[in-house]
Amino acid sequence: MRDQNARSNCEGQGMSTTETSAPPAPQEVREIRINPIVPAESVLVATARSMRPKKEEELAPRDTRKHVETCPFCRGNEAKTPPELLRLPEGSAEWELRLVPNLYPVLGDDRQDANFAFGLQQTIDGYGRHEVFVDHPEHGAAIHEWSEAHLALVFGAYRDRMRALYDSDKRLKYVLVFKNFGPAAGASIPHTHSQVIAMPVVPENVAAEVHNSAVHYGKHHYCIFCSLIDEALTFEATIYDRASGQIRRKINVGQYVIERGQHFIAVKPFASRYEWEVHILPLKHESDFLNVSDEQLADFARVMRRTMARLDAVIGGAQYNYFLHSVPHDAQREQHAASYHWHLEICPRTSIPTGFELGSGLFVNTMSPEAAAERLRNALPE
Ligand SMILES: [Zn+2]
Ligand SMILES: [Zn+2]
Ligand SMILES: [Zn+2]
Repeated sequence: MRDQNARSNCEGQGMSTTETSAPPAPQEVREIRINPIVPAESVLVATARSMRPKKEEELAPRDTRKHVETCPFCRGNEAKTPPELLRLPEGSAEWELRLVPNLYPVLGDDRQDANFAFGLQQTIDGYGRHEVFVDHPEHGAAIHEWSEAHLALVFGAYRDRMRALYDSDKRLKYVLVFKNFGPAAGASIPHTHSQVIAMPVVPENVAAEVHNSAVHYGKHHYCIFCSLIDEALTFEATIYDRASGQIRRKINVGQYVIERGQHFIAVKPFASRYEWEVHILPLKHESDFLNVSDEQLADFARVMRRTMARLDAVIGGAQYNYFLHSVPHDAQREQHAASYHWHLEICPRTSIPTGFELGSGLFVNTMSPEAAAERLRNALPE
C-alpha cells in the first residue's frame, strides 16, 4: 500500500525516472509543470501521440480576403457600425483603425441593476464597457503582414483607450484588451479586430497573478517576472538523477527566448498551456502598460511582428488569442507597482480543450516547450 502511494505521488509530480519504471525516450516528456506564478494554471506536458487532443487540420481555416463588400468593418462600410468612438488618422477615409461600441456588449452601462445575493446565488451588476477596435482596414490581414508602424499605432491606441476608460469612471477596476484571431480562437467576426472590456471587478486569473507575485515580492524583494527574464537570459544547468547519475534535464542559456529587442523580450513559458504559447514582457520592470512610451512601442512592434511571423511560419496560418495583463487600477495599484510586471500573452489555438482538461482544470500540452521554442527560433533567418 505504502509503495503504491509513493509511486503515484512520484508520477503525479512528473518525476518519471524511478527504479520501477523504464526512463522515457530522451525527447518524450510526460510531466506536470507547475506554473510558477499561478499554480492553479499548471500544465500536463505529454508529448506521446496518444495524448494529442485534436488533429490540427480539423480546425476551420481563417478568412484571408482583403476586402469584403458586405463586411461592416471594411473601408467604405463605416455606416454599418454603431457611431464610431475614434478613428485614426482622424477624419480620414483611408483610416488605419476605428473604435466602435460592441453591438452585443457582454457588459454595459445602460441598466442600473443592484448587486444581488439570495442564498448561494450571488451576482454583481454587469456594469462596464465593451468596445471593438477595427485594428486593420484590410479584412483578413494577419499581424505578421502588418507594418511595424501599424502595430505600434494599434498598441498606442489600446494604451490611450485604457487610460480614458479608467479616467472615465472610478468603478472600473480592470480594462482587458484582447484579440481573437480566426474561428479556432473564437472570433465571430471574420474582419480582424480586437476588443476592450472594462469591468467593475478584477478577473480571477489577473488577481491570482497580482496576488502571487506580491507574495513572492514579500519574500524575495524582487519581481517574479524579472526573475523569469533573468533565468531565461542567464540560467544554465544540468540536473542529474540522484540514483542513476544520468542526466535528467539540461537547461541552456536562452533556451526559452524567442525574440529579443532593446526594450522587450518574447519568451516561451516553461509551463506553456498551449503548444505555441509565447509571452512578451518589457525587459525593464514596469507594472502598468499605460506607462509604455511611443519609443518603447516601436521596439515592442518589432519584437511582436517577428514573433507572429515565427508563429505563422511554424503553424501555417496561426489562429490565436492574445491578451494584455497589466496592474489593475484598484485600491492596491501603488502597492503592486514593484511586484507586478505587465505582459502580453499570445496563445495560438491548435487544439480544442477535451473533457480531461475541463474536468481536471489541467491544461494538456502535447509539445515540449523546449522543442517548440527551438522551432520558433529557427523559423526566421538571423
Ligand atoms: Zn472586412
Ligand atoms: Zn518585474
Ligand atoms: Zn498573465
